[in-house]
Amino acid sequence: MHYAELVAKSKGPNLDTPAMRQYRRFKDQHPGCVLFFRMGDFYEMFLEDAVLAHETLGVTLTQRTEGVPMAGVPFHSVEPYLKRMIEAGHRVAVCEQVEDAAQAKGVVKRDVTRVLTPGTLTDETLLDAGADNPLAAVAFLGPGDAPDGPAALAWCEVSAGEFRAAAFDHLSDLAAELARIGPTELLVAETATGEAPPRALELAGSLGVSITPRPAGVFTQTAAHQALCRQFSVAHLGGFGFDDHDPALGPAGAVLDYLRQTQRTPTGQPTPNLRSILPFNREDHLVIDPATLASLEVVRTLRTGEQGQALVGALQGARTPMGKRLLRRWLAYPSRDLSVIRSRHDAVQAMVDDDLFARDLREALSPVQDVPRIVSRLGVGRATPRDLVALAHSASAIAPLLEALAERPSVAPYYARLEDVAAPLLALAEHLHHACVEEPPAHLRNGGLIRDGHDAELDRLRHLGRDADAWLAQYQADLSQQHNIPNVKVGFNKVFGYYIELSAAQRSKAPPEWKRKQTLKNAERYITPELKAFEDKALTAESQALAREQELFAQLCERAAKHAGPLSDYADATAELDVLRGFADLARKRGYCRPEMVEHPALRLTGARHPVLDQTLADRFVPNDVALRGRLRSPDSQNNKNLNTAESTPSLALITGPNMAGKSTYIRTAALCVLLAHAGCFVPADEAVVGLTDRIFTRVGSADELHTGRSTFMVEMTETAAICHHATPHSLVVLDEIGRGTSTLDGLSLAWAVAEHLAERGPRALFATHYHELTRLDQTRPTVANLHVTAREWDGRVVFLHKVEPGGADRSYGIQVAKLAGLPDSVVARATDLLGELSVQQRGAPAPGSSPGTGAGNGPPESTEGPDATPREPVPHMPLFAQAPEHPVVDTLRTTVIETLSPLGAFDLLRKLKQELADGADAAD
Ligand code: ADP
Repeated sequence: MHYAELVAKSKGPNLDTPAMRQYRRFKDQHPGCVLFFRMGDFYEMFLEDAVLAHETLGVTLTQRTEGVPMAGVPFHSVEPYLKRMIEAGHRVAVCEQVEDAAQAKGVVKRDVTRVLTPGTLTDETLLDAGADNPLAAVAFLGPGDAPDGPAALAWCEVSAGEFRAAAFDHLSDLAAELARIGPTELLVAETATGEAPPRALELAGSLGVSITPRPAGVFTQTAAHQALCRQFSVAHLGGFGFDDHDPALGPAGAVLDYLRQTQRTPTGQPTPNLRSILPFNREDHLVIDPATLASLEVVRTLRTGEQGQALVGALQGARTPMGKRLLRRWLAYPSRDLSVIRSRHDAVQAMVDDDLFARDLREALSPVQDVPRIVSRLGVGRATPRDLVALAHSASAIAPLLEALAERPSVAPYYARLEDVAAPLLALAEHLHHACVEEPPAHLRNGGLIRDGHDAELDRLRHLGRDADAWLAQYQADLSQQHNIPNVKVGFNKVFGYYIELSAAQRSKAPPEWKRKQTLKNAERYITPELKAFEDKALTAESQALAREQELFAQLCERAAKHAGPLSDYADATAELDVLRGFADLARKRGYCRPEMVEHPALRLTGARHPVLDQTLADRFVPNDVALRGRLRSPDSQNNKNLNTAESTPSLALITGPNMAGKSTYIRTAALCVLLAHAGCFVPADEAVVGLTDRIFTRVGSADELHTGRSTFMVEMTETAAICHHATPHSLVVLDEIGRGTSTLDGLSLAWAVAEHLAERGPRALFATHYHELTRLDQTRPTVANLHVTAREWDGRVVFLHKVEPGGADRSYGIQVAKLAGLPDSVVARATDLLGELSVQQRGAPAPGSSPGTGAGNGPPESTEGPDATPREPVPHMPLFAQAPEHPVVDTLRTTVIETLSPLGAFDLLRKLKQELADGADAAD
């Protein structure tokens, strides 16, 4: 049921109450938000929101009054409900009572104090500490009917203060980048009807991100330019690398506007934690498209989507939350700057070489907490008492960190960065330590954050409260003596306040001036004017102490917020050190080596292991070598000439071998080692030389994208097309089975042509294939080499050795693998018979369509598998060329010399052949 429908249905007095009018006013002020409307101890939702809450949160749906659906959640445990709403992609406005209900005249005053949306969260309880939570905005710059026109993108990570923007010539490139960023909320300019345009919906759908339409006005250049200049206090944005008409400014303005709208502070002064805005240049990083990111299982595994088994999980050695998030970013955005990469390797090397240094660093980092997110909460007035104490401990850690880094040239840049911010942060830490207790409460509702001795006024008020204990003890003793009641008690409870208590048996001893306050089963409670006066004084002191404490807390937050700049710089440096320390740990524990980074497109790995399987299989993993060299097509230096001619290392290796032998693992290992080296990590190998790489392309596995209307084959060919167009001699291409989604002959022809194309273009390429026919390519292309993954047959079973060796595979072992997989014996036996028959039939059969488009002598080889096939001899993919034996008529035709026949002789021959064919058909019947 829709809101409008419900409203229509519920017309009448039910919706026209003061509370409902107030509710609807806030609802109108926050279009698209679910309104959590505070009523006493509950947040209530009404109408359409109530139905949504029932469906999303599973809370009971009731009716406030006839026809007004209502659902509520208790206020003291609202956070998990908020989290679930946000995770389901909804936006929430939290409307609080802003006056004491008991004092209210008429309807209680309320106001929206928090707006929560997936991309603008700052609360610790609502965020995943190990993952970024980016907010993005997209502007389409071409006409609505241009499917792949220009578009602009801006995104920010509120909790890290990162803000970037870029324009793209093609929407598809923007979409690829957006997939790598992984935003949780996407802003787009709304249409005239207030909705998201169709291509935005399509984009958001393909990424699985929640979409928020915003007024088109905030995306305009002028509005955006003004807002950005105001945010960064500059007259123009040239200093950040943008000219005033950069189309990327539009979405950046929309992001900023949205943050201002959603990040409310109690004082109404939102200060989004954005330090600067930077242009994003794709070429600064190793480009990894979404398909590659997915197939290399960098962030999550393909099958289960699990993060622990993905590369990030296997490599995660960071201790701080920001370190954990940074690792993810470094792996998704490996650097392409040799000096950056080498400086990270230098730092890792220093930590690997010096155990003591690594240990000191680990200890110094251990008290450092989620500084960037605390800073973001300080900016929007949502820091907690625990945040302040965490900040104090984190900032204090700068001293031991500096000590650990001192006089080590390989980490000198980090030392300098920390030294720059050390003085103000240590002063802040000292102040916070002095002001706050060691173990602060989660919230300040009951006070308890500020230490005794920090503030004289607070101390005075607290003493009033504490003196109460002594006064009460004395009062109780006086009463007992005065009235001769030995067991009289003076006590306190939250609801009734202070009281004098007598047991039921002693009730008669109560003097008449005692006023009865409460009757219990076995006791009677009284109050006296004296005790009442004391109660007023004590409770006032308590509430004044609380108010004073809140005031002091606000001052501390304000002071800390003023250090946002140095705190953020500090957080950046510690996050990097933390990730590098994790790399060093891994390098030492698992025997990773420092890769030699070179400019030319080399790739040489000795004893390389897959970083994830290396951990799960440990000693059982069989290391392998990789040797490739990209071919620079127009050598512009003597060095390049030498590389291109004198080098016998292939640019493309074709890898054959049975299913399950380890082909995919081998090619992924190579790609992951290249990625790790660029991220600044050492690599799981004995030795490694890695050339600077512009892109890693993969075409691995097959996935339907039916939601986008693309079949498996279409997805495969789209990815392959991108590789063919964009791979350069500096790229690394990893292909796992091309052409499986179509007929075998189509598939082989495509795989063949793609392999030729890549050999021509010159990227380093690893091509795992089932098409053994391709192994003939090395005979005509000197830059192509064959490799095979070894397997042996033993007692009718196949044994995988996982070792990669030169040459093509000897056999497919398909039937043995099928047997391993549990195919019924009868089916396996029949397949074995058929294999024998087909092998005999196909021997000598012609190749498919002979050489697709490549000219005679250059095409796919004839199928030659025989019982004595040896490695490097191409072997057929069994069912591929199986053909029926030739009819004798064909042979007659082949040997006939037409020129020697008379017209009559030709006619006779034709009749005879027809007759033979007819006889053959009869015989077959
Ligand atoms: P293919 O691509 O040839 O079908 P995979 O690469 O998928 O084979 O490998 C299949 C399984 O074999 C992997 O899941 C892994 O358990 C194991 N494996 C692969 N390579 C190795 C290796 N080098 N050492 C040990 N086990 C391996």
